[in-house]
Parts: sequence; structure tokens; C-alpha cells
Amino acid sequence: MAPRVFGFADASRQTLLESEAQATRTIVDLRIDGAPRARCAAYLREHGFVGTLGGQFTSSIVARLFRNPTIAGLMVDKDGALVDAGHPGVITRAQFTQLQALDEAETKRNDDGTPVEVAPEYDYVFGSTDLVTCGLCGASLHGLRTNAGNPGYTCPDGPRADRPGTCGRVRISAPLLEDYVGTHVVARLLLPGTLAALEEAREEAGRQLAEQQEKLKALREGVDELAGMVLRREVTAKSAALAKADATREVKSIKRTIRRLQKAADTPVLGTVEELVDWWNIAPAESKAGLALLMLYRIDVFPAGRGTRSIKPGRVKLWWRHQPPPPPRRAVEPDASS
Ligand SMILES: [Zn+2]
Repeated sequence: MAPRVFGFADASRQTLLESEAQATRTIVDLRIDGAPRARCAAYLREHGFVGTLGGQFTSSIVARLFRNPTIAGLMVDKDGALVDAGHPGVITRAQFTQLQALDEAETKRNDDGTPVEVAPEYDYVFGSTDLVTCGLCGASLHGLRTNAGNPGYTCPDGPRADRPGTCGRVRISAPLLEDYVGTHVVARLLLPGTLAALEEAREEAGRQLAEQQEKLKALREGVDELAGMVLRREVTAKSAALAKADATREVKSIKRTIRRLQKAADTPVLGTVEELVDWWNIAPAESKAGLALLMLYRIDVFPAGRGTRSIKPGRVKLWWRHQPPPPPRRAVEPDASS
């Protein structure tokens, strides 16, 4: 699968795909006329369009498309300025600017009628991957906004019954961590041998996925049998209930593993390193997570100390798959809410 932006015939972006380009113009008009992004997404779904990675359009995918300067034939240069990208655009620069202005103006009202900033939905790249780990206590960091609305990865507050032994002492800004990991992933992709290693990791993920699905099936069959065993008085109702509770916990943990492996196994097959790098820069969070899972065992995050605007040496430890695996982290039950 080639990395491609919706509305363009292929990754070179030299030719528009007229049906998608026309649909994009329609939803941009809708949006500029005041329609919510959810209606734009619904329009695309109703007309049979799917995203370039095969997914259904949602408002967050539409939001991402609207923020992508490629659709206006533009790109962001190294100084952050919007410049001509040297390929045609689906919409005009003026329309693109209007879309960004709408994003900024998206406000809701307080009780007294004053506008408050609404934080847009944030797609956590490592949201349900269990990749990002607290360097202090070994818990999976989960996506959480600060009171000021800044998205971050946070060690769950402990101790609580559902997350024993977590320290709640590590937090890192989500964009900061994602940029840091992204930079290292892209640098790693450019090294020789990476594609072959990725292919191997993907096949391994596929094998593990099949194993886990078998395990899940066996567990569920075991639970189904319990009722019959109670009826036949082969086990007591009480021990059956205990066994069922154990199985339910294990089913939950296996399902989480399956979701993670599925992401890794679904990473698109791309022909060249350049295509992969290009793809990384436009891919939705979910797909980036899959690639990160193929390349990394784990990402350990340590407390920031003073100043949190940059990542100082030693704050984040990347455990690459081509290197020896990390020591096992302390077993901490995953967050019950995810
Ligand atoms: Zn912790």
C-alpha cells in the first residue's frame, strides 16, 4: 500500500484523484458553511469513500485531512511557513486558511456566555499499546489531559484496588514524547536492514496474534463448560464462580494483547524506506502505533525534573527490537478503563 493523501492519485501527489478531490471540495464547502466535521465524515461514508489506509471516515480523520496543507498544494517549510509544495492542490490556499481559522475559532460558551477554548480531540499514538511505561513503577502510562487541557501520558494514580502498586509520579507531554519517538523511529527506518527486520517483526506479530486468538477461544469454551459441570455436580457452584472470575480477568488481558498485536500486524506493507518515512509523517495515530510496536519493545519514561519542554538525556529510554529485550517490568494490572 502506497502512502497517499486522500484526493491524490498516488504518493507523488502530481495528479488528483478526481472523485476524491471533488468529495473533498464538497466537505470543505460544508465545513466552511458551518457544518461540524462529523457531518463531513458522514457525507464521505454515505458516498462510499474510505480513508487511504482503508478506515471509515470519522470526525478526527476529517480533522486531520483539513489540517494537512497537502490538500491545498502547500507544505510547511523548516521555519514553519506555508509554502508551495510543487504539486496541485484539491482546494485553494484561501479555503485552507479558512479551515484553520475555523479550528481556532471553535469555542464553547461558559455559563456566563464567555467563550472557552475547547481542546480538540487528541489521538494518543501510544494510547492502548502498553508501550509507554513508568520508569519508576513499571505501570503502563495512559493518555490523560492536564486541567489546562494539555494531553500527556501519565502514570495512573495509585494505590487503588484496580491498579495496585502504581506511583502516579511520572507524566510526559504527549506531543513531546510522540515527536521524540517519531524522530528516532524515522532515523531508525533509514538504517540498512530495517525493512527486513520490520517484515520479520510483523510476521511474528501475526503468529502471536493467531496463538492468542486460539487461547481466547479455548478460555471461552472452558467457561461455557463450567455451567454443565456444575449441573453434573462435577464442581461446586462456588468454585465454578471463582474459575469464571479468573477466566474473565484473563480474557480481558488477552483481548488487550490481541488489540495490540492486531495494530502491529496491520502496519501497511510499504515498498521503500522513503515511502515508510513519508507514511509516518501523515499516518493516523493508530497506524503509527502499529509501526512503533514492530520496532520497539518498550518506552520507559522517567520523571522530568526541572523544565519539561524538551527531553533531557536519560528521561526516555527506547528499547529497540534489534537490541536485547528490556528486563521485565513489574507486573501491574492494566488500567481497567481501557
Ligand atoms: Zn509510576
